[in-house]
Amino acid sequence: MDEIDDPRIRSVVIVGGGTAGWMTAAALVQHFRSTPLKITVVESSDIGTIGVGEATIPTIRRFYGQLGLRDDDVMRATQATCKLGIRFIDWSGPGSDFIHPFGLYGQDVKGIGFHHYWLKQKRAGDPAPLAAYSLGASLAAGGKFIQPSPNPPSQLSVFDWALHLDAGLFAQHLRAYAEAGGCARIDARIRSVELRPEDGFVRALTLDDGREVEGDLFVDCSGFKGLVIGEALGVGFEDWGRWLPCDAAYAVQSANRPGDAPAPFTRVTARSAGWQWGIPLRHRAGNGLVFSSAHLSDDQALAELMPHLLGDPLTEPRRIPFRPGRRSQAWAKNCVAIGLSSGFLEPLESTSIALIETGIERLKALFPDRRFAQPILDEFNDQTAREMERVRDFIILHYKLNRRTDTDFWRDCREMAIPETLERKLALWTARGQFVRYRWEMFHPASWLAIYDGFGLYPDHYDPAVDAMDPAYLARSLAEMRTNIADFVARTPDH
Ligand code: FAD
Repeated sequence: MDEIDDPRIRSVVIVGGGTAGWMTAAALVQHFRSTPLKITVVESSDIGTIGVGEATIPTIRRFYGQLGLRDDDVMRATQATCKLGIRFIDWSGPGSDFIHPFGLYGQDVKGIGFHHYWLKQKRAGDPAPLAAYSLGASLAAGGKFIQPSPNPPSQLSVFDWALHLDAGLFAQHLRAYAEAGGCARIDARIRSVELRPEDGFVRALTLDDGREVEGDLFVDCSGFKGLVIGEALGVGFEDWGRWLPCDAAYAVQSANRPGDAPAPFTRVTARSAGWQWGIPLRHRAGNGLVFSSAHLSDDQALAELMPHLLGDPLTEPRRIPFRPGRRSQAWAKNCVAIGLSSGFLEPLESTSIALIETGIERLKALFPDRRFAQPILDEFNDQTAREMERVRDFIILHYKLNRRTDTDFWRDCREMAIPETLERKLALWTARGQFVRYRWEMFHPASWLAIYDGFGLYPDHYDPAVDAMDPAYLARSLAEMRTNIADFVARTPDH
């Protein structure tokens, strides 16, 4: 084909070298290996990265697995620990506590969800909590860890795990991978973005030293500011602050206490107007408070955060303001936004890095040519929007169901109007104990079940077909499941 007729993309410029930038670079280098595609990352070591983002969900392991990286290597390179789920503390008042595990609960029978059998048994007076039927939650609560079986003998054995990692080290590791695969890197500040006068597409980046970096496709990984997608192309932002009231965080690192074993879960503790995270790494811990600045001053926020760190502080607390919401279009003209430039949901369920992964997968699947056919952009934008709305709803759920009575913040959250998509889910759950499933859901029914149960929201009635099972047999089967899980946990080594 003549160069002139060949519409293939010849050069991709990735704008920013944070977690999003280097994940994108590594994935594209791997995907397009042995093709002439040129990939360049432009980042500024003067500006730096956001420097938080340490808790992940299990999809991260599939992300780096696709690059041919192994758990052991990534864990060593990023000072990682294993994460079996998230532990929610005090969300229903002082002393309340539950784990959202990466895994299933019990064993479905005859196509009826396990929770219906459990509900019947609970109504009959059995006090065993739902978590006793989750291997993931039970391992996490016991501080244990083992690799899940690749061929679980039953649903009862299904659990998964993710990583707590040093995000800076993760980006470095991926940078080494991408550079070894031929990715170019330019360390410079971008001064301006040049648009083609004829169609407003991005032509080049102009750097501080006057150099120009041209490209066919630009991936905006420049963080919150959205240097290309927002500032240059003028794509707007859909603000979700009416549902997600937190708009700032303080982040601080702490030293590990000698002899303390790192917990195999992320700790998220409700505070007066937000919540605090605690993330154990091998060499230190990450801590932070996510809060609503309308309800809490900075001094109050620090006074709530600092006495509860996982160890002595190693750094000064850093304030990070943010705006929950999404970029109205993640892809406009020849620019695709991935990472914080495409939107942000607070880190309660550790979803930002996972959204970077799905953004990259989508970009690979819909990789355009230089004609940038509109249906490709439309599909990308539709999938991205729907996926973010699903995650948004899942996070809102935690606020909506909270049972704290101590502050206006929590009372307001309980009373706030919620998106219609979430209302439908809650209505079906309470009426029939079933899960509305939309396209592009990141969280499966077991995760919704974990949160409903954690906050004590149950259906009006269990599935009537459950009554076909002999009650004595039901009680015996459930007791057996609990024993199997407890025995397995007892035999498993510490994390
Ligand atoms: P950034 O890290 O901000 O990177 C932007 C890049 O663009 C940098 O390299 C910068 O140098 C470059 N850049 C910007 N402007 C210019 C310029 N003019 N010239 C040249 N280069 C430029 N995610 C999770 O998955 N789990 C978590 O537990 C989690 N916790 C979080 C807690 C908080 C409080 C916040 C705010 C976020 C959290 N996140 C979490 C999100 C996570 O930090 C980000 O999704 C992730 O780090 C990706 O960031 P990024 O690469 O998009 O942006």
